[in-house]
Amino acid sequence: MTKAAAAAPFVIAIDGPAAAGKGTLARRLADHLGYPHLDTGLLYRAVGLKMIAGGADASDHDAAVAAAQALTAADLSAPALRGDAAAQAASQVAAIPAVRAALLRFQRDFAAQPPGGAAGAVLDGRDIGTVVCPDAALKLFVTAPLSVRAERRRRELRERGLAAIHMQVLQDMQERDARDATRDVAPLEPAKDAVIIDTSGLDPDAVLVMALAAVGAAQRSR
Ligand code: C5P
Repeated sequence: MTKAAAAAPFVIAIDGPAAAGKGTLARRLADHLGYPHLDTGLLYRAVGLKMIAGGADASDHDAAVAAAQALTAADLSAPALRGDAAAQAASQVAAIPAVRAALLRFQRDFAAQPPGGAAGAVLDGRDIGTVVCPDAALKLFVTAPLSVRAERRRRELRERGLAAIHMQVLQDMQERDARDATRDVAPLEPAKDAVIIDTSGLDPDAVLVMALAAVGAAQRSR
């Protein structure tokens, strides 16, 4: 191993479908390791939200690319980013290759030079291990069956005071997963060398323990 390779940031790529628990795991892993975390879904949600706010159709390629190119850090903190309208618009703009290309540099820079000079970074999304950081030190693919994920999302919405019907949440999630998994560019799929974690029946602590075991193994094999 060369010195340069040894000094490369320890990048952890976490991918998976909606509501599988990857965001929770990414935040907790980052906290535990003292690494910065980038929720890359926020970038796509912010582009989707700009389209909604501007009255544009989320399938309008030119408007979506312009919105992606004009994205600033201030766009990443709107509370509406967490809503389902932003999620659906995000998955539509995320299928546009030029939108993905516009957001790629920011994500790669975050991994290559983690903010604060940290020794590593955690990025979560759909294509981190396959496209954004194919050389990540560790790739995790966090998943669970659709019905489990839909029930989790319904509960989460209810806790936020939002009415949600299980069948409707399930249908929206199924539609979004299908769009994410079948698009031509950077479809949702596990990287060949990803460690798969099925979170059904596991609480966040148990998932963190499994992930930390994978981190330890990846650190030893570096
Ligand atoms: O992870 P989150 O649910 O916030 O992502 C919203 C949408 O953004 C996803 O359904 C997906 O279409 C898109 N996305 C993506 N690539 C990423 C992260 C998110 O295509 N790396």
